[in-house]
Amino acid sequence: MACSLLLLLAMRVSKQGGYHTMECQWCNETHTTESTQDCYWTMPDGKRTLRILQIPAVDCPKCGVYISEPMNQKVEENLVIADLTGYPDTLTYDQILHAPKIRLFDLK
Ligand SMILES: [Zn+2]
Repeated sequence: MACSLLLLLAMRVSKQGGYHTMECQWCNETHTTESTQDCYWTMPDGKRTLRILQIPAVDCPKCGVYISEPMNQKVEENLVIADLTGYPDTLTYDQILHAPKIRLFDLK
């Protein structure tokens, strides 16, 4: 499988480069790698569902690819402050980060 080969390569690279590896939040596996995942996300107001591409994710050899709890919160926070009017329903995480911000007084 091409996927597991990529995972092996990524693990080798992270060991050689001495990059910080994240511990899996489910099984405490320490050999996780950074990955990305596409995900459907309901806006905080519940009125719109977005398909968000390339969200930074954790790739655990035992649990698979998933979005960590802190990243989950970060996406939520960014969805609250990003003004996605005029954006399509399918967009990348990067686009959300760079979207115009809602002015805080408009939230009140
Ligand atoms: Zn795991």
